[in-house]
Amino acid sequence: MAIEIDCEHGDAVQDVTPNAQGCAQCLAIGDRWVHLRMCLTCGNVGCCDDSKNKHASGHFRTVGHPLVQSFEPDEEWIWCYVDDAVVGEAPTLRTARRRGRSRRGERS
Ligand SMILES: [Zn+2]
Ligand SMILES: [Zn+2]
Ligand SMILES: [Zn+2]
Repeated sequence: MAIEIDCEHGDAVQDVTPNAQGCAQCLAIGDRWVHLRMCLTCGNVGCCDDSKNKHASGHFRTVGHPLVQSFEPDEEWIWCYVDDAVVGEAPTLRTARRRGRSRRGERS
């Protein structure tokens, strides 16, 4: 499954699986998050910058993995923390991509 990254950090993308279904660091301290992001280098799931603890960008600052994708089921964007921009699209994690809408209505 090829993921196209529109910046120079595409090499950071690995074939990852999410390490949790929520932000493990928030769960550990009993806190909440707004949205989740998944690191495309190691699969670390962290909370977004709208969340109080901002663990996803904290992960970038700690270990330097630049690319995350949204971990929300209906969002497909990839974010680069270095470029501070959306740099690509990823297949959704938990929902299959909608099939083409070209199914013909069959009438008898
Ligand atoms: Zn980048
Ligand atoms: Zn968190
Ligand atoms: Zn990572």
